[in-house]
Amino acid sequence: MYSFIRDIREDLLGLLYPEGVKCCLCGDEIWEGHRHGICNSCISGIEFIRDRYCSRCGKLLEKGDICRDCRSFFHYFDRAYSLCVYEGKVKEWIYAFKYGNRPVIARSFGKMMADRVKQLGIRDVFDCIVPVPLHRKKLRQRGYNQAALLGRVLAVELNKKFLSSTLLRVEDTPPLSGLTRHRRTEVLEKAFEINNCFPEGIKNVLLIDDIYTTGATVSQCAKILKKYGAKRVYVFTFASGRSVD
Ligand SMILES: [Zn+2]
Ligand SMILES: [Zn+2]
Repeated sequence: MYSFIRDIREDLLGLLYPEGVKCCLCGDEIWEGHRHGICNSCISGIEFIRDRYCSRCGKLLEKGDICRDCRSFFHYFDRAYSLCVYEGKVKEWIYAFKYGNRPVIARSFGKMMADRVKQLGIRDVFDCIVPVPLHRKKLRQRGYNQAALLGRVLAVELNKKFLSSTLLRVEDTPPLSGLTRHRRTEVLEKAFEINNCFPEGIKNVLLIDDIYTTGATVSQCAKILKKYGAKRVYVFTFASGRSVD
């Protein structure tokens, strides 16, 4: 009898907390709140961007409404948002996600991003989701495009069209880190093109990437999308660098 009750109890626990649920970042078992597949300890290592952020690029802001960057430079996208600050553990995790052959992280990050889109109340301002594309050479090396994986999860969670091959990266650009803003813009000038079948009726796009640094990449993508018919381009990245006020 005792063992029967114990079995039932364990079955119920199994339903609530299925066995084998491990944090996708540190590998520890998760016992509660595992909708995103990330343990509480890892969650506490994330600095979420919630209240104070730049009303153009979405970077965390200490004071004011628009960061210095956005006061000085034009972006082709209409508005950008990020889930968290690109610092500390977040940097390590994004590195592992991009270069450590751990595409499974997309499921957790993408779900968190989708929940944030709902919280922000911007779900209805776009018709489709487009990822920042990777050049085919890099795609072959890496095996997947991390932005496309995130975008796919967001599209499923938010019930939106996912346009994975509308935007193409036609030039294999060098790494942008370390380049000045001006140089980044130059390097990216001819990097993106539109696939010759830009879907009719698509007006507003949510462009997805993993990191927002100066915004040069997403701005260039937005420029091309708008050239071919997109009316508004919103950007959502998993993380962004700290702003300069
Ligand atoms: Zn963890
Ligand atoms: Zn800004």
